[in-house]
Amino acid sequence: MLIGIKGGAKRRLAALRPLAGRACGLGAGPGRRQLGPPAACMHPSPCCAALRAQRHKARGHPYTPVMTRTTPPPPVDLPTLFPWLTAYARTTVRLHPRPGTPGAQDSHIGGPLLWPAGEAWPTCGEPIINDGNLEPWRPASPIPMIGVAQFFARDIPEIPYPDNTDLLQVLWCPAKHQQEDLWGPVVRLIWRRTADLATVPTETHGPGFTAPYPSSVSLADDDYLPRPCVLHPERVTEYPDCEELPEDLQSALNEWDRANSDYQYLLSIAPGCKIGGWETWHLTDMYELPCTTCGTETEPLLQLDTTEWDGGSGPRWQPLEDRDHAPVDWEDEPTSLVLGRWGRLTVFLCPVSAEHGFRMAMQ
Ligand SMILES: [Zn+2]
Ligand SMILES: [Zn+2]
Repeated sequence: MLIGIKGGAKRRLAALRPLAGRACGLGAGPGRRQLGPPAACMHPSPCCAALRAQRHKARGHPYTPVMTRTTPPPPVDLPTLFPWLTAYARTTVRLHPRPGTPGAQDSHIGGPLLWPAGEAWPTCGEPIINDGNLEPWRPASPIPMIGVAQFFARDIPEIPYPDNTDLLQVLWCPAKHQQEDLWGPVVRLIWRRTADLATVPTETHGPGFTAPYPSSVSLADDDYLPRPCVLHPERVTEYPDCEELPEDLQSALNEWDRANSDYQYLLSIAPGCKIGGWETWHLTDMYELPCTTCGTETEPLLQLDTTEWDGGSGPRWQPLEDRDHAPVDWEDEPTSLVLGRWGRLTVFLCPVSAEHGFRMAMQ
């Protein structure tokens, strides 16, 4: 995977980040991945089912829906130890996606989008990259995008919706593209006002789930086809990656963490799909992602993650409700998305205006 550092100058010079040995736990600690057997595909589309047949064989696991997900409290109260850390606390909305059958009127990942009648479905004509052929090439016809997620303000008011909008829709072209900072899907954000949509009977799944989707199947990367999931939003407090902190504060935290090694996995940034909060920079060093319109540093809007927790982060971030039953093999990979090296794709938004565009990073 190509990970460019083209987002501008580093926020701080490397010399200011004495992270030799990664005392805060970066690059150390328990394994990040626990690869399990493929998950059962619950996608309703026959074409998608065919696409995933090799990876997602139906296994008939029982699944009992629960209405909430609860992150356990942190094992250490960091602000008691480091009062200055309070200034860096951010509220994150963990989405806790779980396979289900969301409707077009629901906030969800991978379900049908509320789509205005008569509005053309977006397509992508950008060059793509196939596995085994890293030379970008342009498909003969544009690829229909697919609906990845939508979030209503009533469910997640923390999203900075532009004035007079209350619905965010996330679509992407489900093929690999060489972009400025990464290889991945071409993303599109659409902000809508649901009051405008209410007058139009527009519950459609979009071509993501019907024709002309099959025409693009051969070009789609099944890693980018989300399994329909309902959401269980939960607010938690996050603290930043060590690299976000001033040098003296990094040193204090690193010194403490040398004896504890809990900061990265258990105390700072939530894994999994989420809104807001902090970005983890465990794969690359931190780099700037300024707004391409006004130059203001962008902030995390949406993180889509391959896993909701893993062996290292599970002791803190696996919800309590997911611990009281026998393990379900897809439970930590509900969306079936595989992003980067089993990592996370974050969309960053300009704090000045959501309409200034967005940036992305893969970790
Ligand atoms: Zn494309
Ligand atoms: Zn801006």
